[in-house]
Amino acid sequence: MSSLAPNYKRKNLSFVKGKGSFLFGDDGKKYLDFVQGIAVNSLGHTNKKLVNAISKQSKKLWHVSNAFKIPEGEKLAKKLTRRTFADSIIFQNSGAEATEAAIKVARRYFYSIGKPNKTRIICIKNSFHGRTIAAIHASGSKKMTLGFGPKVPGFDHFEFGNHKKLKRLINKNTAAIMIETVMGEGGIKVVPAWCLRELRKICDKKDILLILDEVQCGIGRSGKFFAFEHSKVKPDIVPIAKGIGGGFPIGAVLMTKKVGKAMVPGTHGSTFGGNPLAMAVGNAVLDQINKNLLMNVNKMSKYFIHELNKIKIKYPKIIKEVRGVGLLIGLQLFKDQTEFIKKLMENKLLTIRAAENVIRILPPLNVTKREIDIALKIISKVCNKIK
Ligand SMILES: *Cc1c(COP(=O)(O)O)cnc(C)c1O
Repeated sequence: MSSLAPNYKRKNLSFVKGKGSFLFGDDGKKYLDFVQGIAVNSLGHTNKKLVNAISKQSKKLWHVSNAFKIPEGEKLAKKLTRRTFADSIIFQNSGAEATEAAIKVARRYFYSIGKPNKTRIICIKNSFHGRTIAAIHASGSKKMTLGFGPKVPGFDHFEFGNHKKLKRLINKNTAAIMIETVMGEGGIKVVPAWCLRELRKICDKKDILLILDEVQCGIGRSGKFFAFEHSKVKPDIVPIAKGIGGGFPIGAVLMTKKVGKAMVPGTHGSTFGGNPLAMAVGNAVLDQINKNLLMNVNKMSKYFIHELNKIKIKYPKIIKEVRGVGLLIGLQLFKDQTEFIKKLMENKLLTIRAAENVIRILPPLNVTKREIDIALKIISKVCNKIK
């Protein structure tokens, strides 16, 4: 019996090695990994430049307290602010911490300008912002909050697409609207560009901050650095994590100058957040999220989605919809996806579930056409078998 708690339903498979898009199982088989730690290994497994960066830094310095200056963090923050809407950044270690920090920033901003009652956060029902106590209540998911009461106050929920309800929820105490630009766990649901623009307008009019959770869809995954860039909307606060560490735990909250100013000494902190080892890896990841890589994401995405739609047409009773953006792709089935995912795995393609019968497909951003062709072949084969 395992000494690990039973909080995960794990597959009976572990891995001994990873290289690029592939994982090598303890069963002696080679798997095409289109999970990549759930959009975490943005550059694939054991990326050479990341291996070099972590090796080099590990011989110099791992950790110092945030009571001291950390030049590697200054450098990464500078690169992020140069490339994005953000003017200032706080580093964390995970996505949930980043969304928590985003909530804190929104509330503290209004406190700092003499509006301490503006604390409420409006979120989408059954979204995903992480597993801490505040984040599960932000998600508004019955399943995730079950048994973890009392309910954390301060969150209001509307259903994806229910704009009337959203407008009704807004009042003078609303501090922020926090949504995922693309709902990941919720089933790869892309918030349309016109919705984001409309949201921005509402936020401006009602003195509300716009928080866009890009923990899963950010850092190149969508084909642009941030998924909201497709709409040209500028958010106020953006939590990130997953892809920025390339496999090393890094989270961060990105902010405009306006709200970042509120985070004066003592308002927030983290023992590990932004330590030299993490920052060395983050810098090496970010340096590789360049124009060429984003071009690859767009090119591969177009090809992959086009070919998946061909499979959908061939098997109209199995695949309901192919959706997503960039290399955040969802294959929605008509029925439960468990069996399908299992069969893909038996054929050595790893994918992962999301809500609404969706199979999530998350290749590394540097995936090749040859690798996508392998995946397509396996998906076709499983469709044919399951029919
Ligand atoms: C994964 C995820 C989180 C939580 O990240 P953790 O690192 O697991 O805490 C938050 N928001 C979104 C959109 C995510 O996909």
